[in-house]
Amino acid sequence: MKYKNIILSCMGVVVLGVGGGYIMQRQHHATSSVSSTSSSRASESSQKVDLPDTAKADNATLILVNKQHVLDHELDFEKSEMNGIQYSQEIDGPLRKFLNDAKKAGHPATLVSGYRSKKYQEQVLNENVQQNINNGMTESEAKKATHAVIQTPGASEHQTGLAVDVMTDEYWKQYHQLESDSDKTEGQKWLIKHAPDYGFVLRYPKSEAAKKSTGIDYESWHFRYVGVENAKYMTKHKLTLEEYDDLIQGQSTK
Ligand SMILES: [Zn+2]
Repeated sequence: MKYKNIILSCMGVVVLGVGGGYIMQRQHHATSSVSSTSSSRASESSQKVDLPDTAKADNATLILVNKQHVLDHELDFEKSEMNGIQYSQEIDGPLRKFLNDAKKAGHPATLVSGYRSKKYQEQVLNENVQQNINNGMTESEAKKATHAVIQTPGASEHQTGLAVDVMTDEYWKQYHQLESDSDKTEGQKWLIKHAPDYGFVLRYPKSEAAKKSTGIDYESWHFRYVGVENAKYMTKHKLTLEEYDDLIQGQSTK
C-alpha cells in the first residue's frame, strides 16, 4: 500500500514533467544563477558509469538546496504528518519503516523535525541566536555559532519536506538537544548505519571533506531522502549531495 503511494507520487512528478510542459512539483535545482563548484572528489568519481537509473538531473527527489541554491518560494507538494510534524508524502512510507525497524531493533527514535517553511526557518534561526546569547555569547559569536548549524532561510532543505531530524530516544529523552555526540549511542549508530536501506543519507557527514563540500558542520541527526539506490550509491562512494549533484550534472551533459 505504502509502496504503491510512493511509486505513484514519483510517477506523478515524472508524468507532469513530460506531459505538463516541464511543470514539475519540484525543480531539481532551487533558483540560482550560481553553479555548484566541482570538488576534486566528485570529478575523480566522474569516470564512474555505474550510477543508478534514478540518478538523473530531472529527478525532483534529488533537489539540491543549500546556500548556493536557495529556495525563494514554497514548493508545492503533498504533505504527511507524524506527531504533528509535517514532511513530504513521498517519504511517509520509507520514514515510517525506518522508525519502525529501528524500534524493532531495540532503538526507538523520535522524529524531531521535518518540513519547515521559509518563515519558520527564520524563526528557528532567530531563536537559536537568542539562546546562544542567553548562554553567554556575544551577538556576533551567537550568530556565528547559529549559522554553523542552522541554514539561513531559503537555504534549508527542510523546506523541501524531504529532510528529517531523527534522534534515538536513548539520547533525545535525556538531553532534548540535537548534538553530534548523540552518535556515541547505539541507537544513533543504528540509525546512521541503516538509513540508506530506507533511502535516506546522513546529509552532513563527519569529515573535513564533507564539511568543505556542504558548508555545514557534522550533524548526526539530519537525514535526507534521496531514494534507496541513490542513498546506497552516495554512502558507498562517500559523496555528499553537492558532490553527487556535480557527478550527475557532469554525466547529463555528456
Ligand atoms: Zn535538520
